[in-house]
Amino acid sequence: MGKLVRTNEMFHGANSLSELKGIKGNKAVIVIGKESAKSSGSLKRVQAILDEINIKHEVFCGVEPDPSIETVMKGAEFMLQHKPDWIIGLGGCSSIDAAKTMWAVYEHPELTLEVMVQGGTPPLRNKARFVAIPTTSGTGTETTPLSVITDRAKGVKYPIVCYDFLPDLSLVDGELCTTLPVNITANTGLDALTHSVEAYASNIDDNYADAFAKGSVSLVFDNLENAYNNPSDVNTRQKMHDASFLGGYAFANSWLGIAHSLAHQVGGMFGIPHGRANAIVLPNVVRYNSKSTDRYSDLAKLIGKETAEDFASGIEILRDKVNVPASFKECNISEKEWNDKLKAMSQNAFDDVCTSFNPRVPTVEDLEKIFTDCYNGAKVSF
Ligand SMILES: [Zn+2]
Repeated sequence: MGKLVRTNEMFHGANSLSELKGIKGNKAVIVIGKESAKSSGSLKRVQAILDEINIKHEVFCGVEPDPSIETVMKGAEFMLQHKPDWIIGLGGCSSIDAAKTMWAVYEHPELTLEVMVQGGTPPLRNKARFVAIPTTSGTGTETTPLSVITDRAKGVKYPIVCYDFLPDLSLVDGELCTTLPVNITANTGLDALTHSVEAYASNIDDNYADAFAKGSVSLVFDNLENAYNNPSDVNTRQKMHDASFLGGYAFANSWLGIAHSLAHQVGGMFGIPHGRANAIVLPNVVRYNSKSTDRYSDLAKLIGKETAEDFASGIEILRDKVNVPASFKECNISEKEWNDKLKAMSQNAFDDVCTSFNPRVPTVEDLEKIFTDCYNGAKVSF
């Protein structure tokens, strides 16, 4: 028996933001990042709709990339002060992920990061409901039960899984992405691709997730380069936004694999953007896993090719076209610093929850070798 994990209600397409008019309540807290929701005008559009439907609103501004637990606690404090019955996460995945976790602490002020990471978040929706309005096309957090919060002191990113995080309403409006900078377009688009590839190849079989994953892989290969070169093309932006949602939907049901386990480490230790880290490791993860699964040949067919190696090099070609580096060395990480952290990163990646869904069961040594090849830009061959 299967149960689909999905967001409660979603609208997609240009101007689907206007569906925000359908919510009923008294007060909203809108959670945003530092600047882009203001400068792009998306915050103003959200506020105008809330004014129109007589919902008061306050803005919690300043969520940083890879949000910290300190930011989460500040946001929860802000919510306790303003008592919203709606929480609106508006922006990139950081804003929405942070908003989800702030919401949990707002509902249960005694909650700690440790308890949430262990899956102990109590039921939500006693005080507020949740709207996700993504303005980047990558994590699909608008349809996943996940929030990633960073402990800066330890340099560790913690995925929090809580099925109540699935939004009440998700608005997937490509018009909100036209001001996205090109490097973020590239990184986030390749993150969406990684979700779909990992969900498709994971050790969980789910026909529904597979269909969404394949749809997402095709959309990314067909549209990412154009979104990168023609940022204001709404049609292409919508396709990438849909790819991100479909990828999120796929991995909310079939989970991920070691590309994410490895990328979480490089993100936590060296601050490499999540999608960029994924894009660097993914081709080698495909090569490594292809010894245990033939799933990648299905994905190769989607891009007019045959084999897992074809698919791995297809990802590398796409990565080059959107100017994402091919190795961690090219990301200006010194060899000494890399080697100092290599053992710890390999062990932590082994312990990452995503590793348990990988189609090939790795050893810590395997992960270390993949890391080393990805640092040097070499092809994994074992
Ligand atoms: Zn990801």
